[in-house]
Amino acid sequence: MAQAQTVEKKQMRTPIESGCPDGMQYMHPLMVKNFGNWKYHDRPRPGVLHHVAYSGDEIWTVRVGTQRQLGPYEINLLCDIVDQYGEGHVRFTIRSNLEVMVSKWEKVGPLIQAFNDAGYPVGGTGNSVTMISHTQGWLHCDIPGTDASGVVKSLMDELYEEFVKEEMPNRVHITTSCCQINCGGQGDIAINVQHTKPPKINHDLVANVCERPSVVARCPVAAIRPAIVNGKPSLEVDEKKCICCGACYPPCPPMQINDPEHSKLAIWVGGKNSNARSKPMFQKLVAAGLPNNPPRWPEVAAVVKKILYTYKKDARDWERVGDWVERIGWPRFFELTGLPFTKFHIDNWRGARNSLNASAHIRF
Ligand code: SF4
Ligand code: SF4
Repeated sequence: MAQAQTVEKKQMRTPIESGCPDGMQYMHPLMVKNFGNWKYHDRPRPGVLHHVAYSGDEIWTVRVGTQRQLGPYEINLLCDIVDQYGEGHVRFTIRSNLEVMVSKWEKVGPLIQAFNDAGYPVGGTGNSVTMISHTQGWLHCDIPGTDASGVVKSLMDELYEEFVKEEMPNRVHITTSCCQINCGGQGDIAINVQHTKPPKINHDLVANVCERPSVVARCPVAAIRPAIVNGKPSLEVDEKKCICCGACYPPCPPMQINDPEHSKLAIWVGGKNSNARSKPMFQKLVAAGLPNNPPRWPEVAAVVKKILYTYKKDARDWERVGDWVERIGWPRFFELTGLPFTKFHIDNWRGARNSLNASAHIRF
């Protein structure tokens, strides 16, 4: 009997779930009512989406650009505007826009005015430069080589007009990445950190801080070996093999790779995940060794604007940056943008067959 009760109790135990809560409970009632039953949508003006359901219900969504890293002051300010001029329902997009849903067109104008008065732009829909996506960097990650949020803020200030208008040939996704190995993704224009020297090892600290096997296993090209230095267990790097990726720095901070002079920024173009009109594409390097120059990164902004405005002028309607470059060819791209084509643009690394094969992660 006691055994049966235990089984019954075990069966009744509810699983402990973690992760995102069910989003339906937070949705605007009109969206819940018409879930999966939308007839069409259009864009009455930049920054506003209008969805019409088969039931005849209509809903307007106002998209607001944020500074991405929001503190309590900004969140309260935005929520007060939503409570006063909206209908209390918001959502964040993956590019950290705020979207506010209202059930009447008459509410859209005052809502936009209130956001603009508070200094927040409305836009980012259609053929605009959307909010730049960036990795979270120093907020929560252990390997950033630059402040991705700072680069984003400076660039969005420069590209403000292109966010609030829809004047590009197609949408432009700009991304930033604060290390060379992880979150970069594929952007029409991408700004990624670029380490140019192998890590410098502080041998006095390695034995106390690092698990040496984890560090050795972490290197994608098997350039790290255990070593005894000054009588202490440490590590050594084969600098001929090292591709300066920075992957060894997170499990072993004494392998310092960030450097004010040698950590640079690089710009890549033509990446896209979408398969509309053409296949998804990988981004390609077009500018390397730009100075990592806070707080406004003027050199990076100048190159991004040069690429963006050349694309705006030269591309045909609906061509993404990658489609445009494919059509005109890379020589013409460098000619039109005036960017120098250097030996660093040629991928001549021959170590893959030997060294990637020796890594703990990659086999072929
Ligand atoms: S890009 Fe790299 S450093 Fe930046 S958040 Fe992603 S993993 Fe971390
Ligand atoms: S993990 Fe990257 S930076 Fe570190 S030694 Fe290997 S290739 Fe060089």
